[in-house]
Amino acid sequence: MPELPEVRTVAVFLNKRIVNTTILKAECFFEKMIWRNEVKDFYKSVLNQKILKVSNYGKYLMFELSNQIIISHLRMEGKWSISKKEIDIYNANHLRLQFELSNGEYLKYYDSRKFGTIEIWDKKNYKQKSGMDKLGPEPLNSQPSFEYLKEKAIKSNSLIKAFILDQSVLCGIGNIYANEILFAAGINPERITKTLTDEELKKIIMFSNAILEKAISLKGTSIHSYKSGDGETGQFQHELKVHLRKDEKCFVCGTKILKKQVAGRGTYFCAKCQH
Ligand SMILES: [Zn+2]
Repeated sequence: MPELPEVRTVAVFLNKRIVNTTILKAECFFEKMIWRNEVKDFYKSVLNQKILKVSNYGKYLMFELSNQIIISHLRMEGKWSISKKEIDIYNANHLRLQFELSNGEYLKYYDSRKFGTIEIWDKKNYKQKSGMDKLGPEPLNSQPSFEYLKEKAIKSNSLIKAFILDQSVLCGIGNIYANEILFAAGINPERITKTLTDEELKKIIMFSNAILEKAISLKGTSIHSYKSGDGETGQFQHELKVHLRKDEKCFVCGTKILKKQVAGRGTYFCAKCQH
């Protein structure tokens, strides 16, 4: 599933290519993906609208139009690309939505699993309408503050793995980066959150920033099927220290990396390095 670095990579790619183009036509081939809007209303809303900016917040990709914002959640397998009408960078059978743009190109959305969703809202209240106002800060640019995380953590009886996956606490961390952050911080994923020391919470902030920033610089992690928008793969998979390394030796101490289900997710960790 794409996490913050992968969605940021797609946003940067699309922003370079389609800003200031106008949507001449929209066609949806899987109507259920349009959330909380009738498809005909969606078409009407986007027709002849200029795309002013493409950005992301956590795992949410956003296309800013003059008065409205299209919010795309890629879920498991969603992918955006830009190509000529007759060219498909991804499997043409998985094409779910396309926009004809004024520059002669097509902005296309593919989704093999069909879990991805699209919503459109007025700019003035899109955060409340979409539920994005419930999301926590992105762990980037030295955010969140220690005070913020401490206040959330001291009240939490959740496992620390579940806590950092909770999008209302931190926005954009999924399973891959949660595993990597806890390894870097030396924290066992099954610790109860409120037992973490101040130093450990500071390490979570520091390593979540460092790891996400490195992953963004490498255009994300390509493990399953994620590609960066132009069909290129990201490169952070070569930097992974624990994720997918079950039974391999820990890079720090040589102990075998373990895997178990924690917070419902495949969790890789070193029992010796992570306390
Ligand atoms: Zn170790």
